[in-house]
Amino acid sequence: MSSHSGLALSAVTIDPVVSEVPHAAPDRLPVPDTVMAGTIVWPYAITIGLVHALALLAALPWLFSWTGLIAAVLGVHVFGQGINLCYHRLLTHRSARVPRWLERSMVVVALCCLQDTPGKWVATHRFHHNHSDEMQDPHSPLVRFLWAHVGWLMVRNSATNSIDMYRRYARDVLEDPFYMALEKRPIWIWIWLAHAALFFMVGLAIGWTQSGPMAGVQFGLSLLVWGVMVRTVLVWHITWSVNSLTHLFGYSNYDTSDHSRNNWLVAILTVGEGWHNNHHHDPASASNHHRWWEFDVTYLQIRLLELVGLATHVVRPRHVRHAARAKPGST
Ligand SMILES: [Zn+2]
Ligand SMILES: [Zn+2]
Repeated sequence: MSSHSGLALSAVTIDPVVSEVPHAAPDRLPVPDTVMAGTIVWPYAITIGLVHALALLAALPWLFSWTGLIAAVLGVHVFGQGINLCYHRLLTHRSARVPRWLERSMVVVALCCLQDTPGKWVATHRFHHNHSDEMQDPHSPLVRFLWAHVGWLMVRNSATNSIDMYRRYARDVLEDPFYMALEKRPIWIWIWLAHAALFFMVGLAIGWTQSGPMAGVQFGLSLLVWGVMVRTVLVWHITWSVNSLTHLFGYSNYDTSDHSRNNWLVAILTVGEGWHNNHHHDPASASNHHRWWEFDVTYLQIRLLELVGLATHVVRPRHVRHAARAKPGST
């Protein structure tokens, strides 16, 4: 294990510039000209609408249980890390490597968040980094807040909804036959439905055993609504807030060429992804932790995986990489 812990990094002088910043990016942007007006992506629109509607059932007192609430809160973290840790840091930025069985397991967890396949997610996010807050950016809030948050998902964009683009931007991901299979068949729907059914069945079995069939149905539905529907909606909005909030509100450590910001609220909700200006400054780094208060729990989890031998090739922050390269005798 390397001697650089995430916390130790805060002791290193990195002299970031806190700036009010004249950014190169414009203040307003039009919708990308590759967006095909009037062409709704129905699978996304229906899924997002339907799961939001089902999550509203949580307002019914009959469907409340403390276990359901706890399943939702814990689930936001556990399933959310499928996106933050796996889709984003492992697959998109290759900030660390884990064994294939672990990576694929985390992809299955990420698929339970209904944020599409790893190939599409990775390609779109790499495209965002290449064109951040420029006209081609698929989800810049400089168009509109709601566009960046969710609107961009609802309409077809010829730049990002194309198999050629996925091949170009996520070739390495699609080399894995499992991830390619996910592109060819809608396996992700079945994975999501299966995990939803599992939540219901576990609740049904426990409730039935303890207090009879009606209690079983009530407890099963409670876990389904809170542990799956509410949690899926929460993870969506938390992920989407990285696209919307952290390109609008917060402070900058670095004068990047976009409007990326460090936003403490999003950083808490995403356990580290909200330090988005740090991330745009150094996308390859496994750590978004630059100043001492910028805790990055996701990085600590990657370090833990490294500690137990499950993660290798963990990419250190840029200044650490540069210092290591500059060392006499290093390659
Ligand atoms: Zn960004
Ligand atoms: Zn990124």
